[in-house]
Parts: sequence; structure tokens; C-alpha cells
Amino acid sequence: MTKGATGVSEAELDWQNRAACRSESLDLFYSIEDADIRQALAICRRCEVRAACLEYAMTNREHFGVWGGSTERERRRIFRRERRGRGSTAA
Ligand code: SF4
Repeated sequence: MTKGATGVSEAELDWQNRAACRSESLDLFYSIEDADIRQALAICRRCEVRAACLEYAMTNREHFGVWGGSTERERRRIFRRERRGRGSTAA
């Protein structure tokens, strides 16, 4: 298993080969225009690796763009919720 510059193995990134966005313009996924974001989210809804994509984005703190059917704002909300959750369980 080889590890790339990010320390993530090729096998761990295999889901990217099945991504519905592979043949789409990345501009849609990193746009600030609502219409583009809606179009990107529609592509995510039909993507078979959506869960793996979202997990990757959360693990790697991907702050920008649409990942795993989530917007930047939605992921920030999840990050905050997770942080609060960890804080409430700390001794
Ligand atoms: S969930 Fe969306 S961003 Fe992630 S791989 Fe699929 S189409 Fe691309």
C-alpha cells in the first residue's frame, strides 16, 4: 500500500475512482453561486460513494467546496456539533 503526500494510501482513496463528479467541472463544486452549488449537490445525490466522500472531507477538514453532498456551511455546523460533543464528554 503506497502513501501519497497526504499520508493517505491509494486504496483509501479508491472511492474517488467511482465518484459521480469525476467527469464534471470542479468549478461547480468550488463555486460560491447558489445555482452551481445546487447543481453540485444534485450530482452528489446520485453518487455511490457519497458517504466515503463526506467521511474523507470531515477527517481531512475540507473547509471549501461541496463534498459528500454537503456544503461548506453544513460541514462547519457538523464540525461545531462534534466539537461541542467532545467537550461535553471531557472530564
Ligand atoms: S459525493 Fe459529491 S463530491 Fe463526493 S465524490 Fe460523490 S459527487 Fe463527488
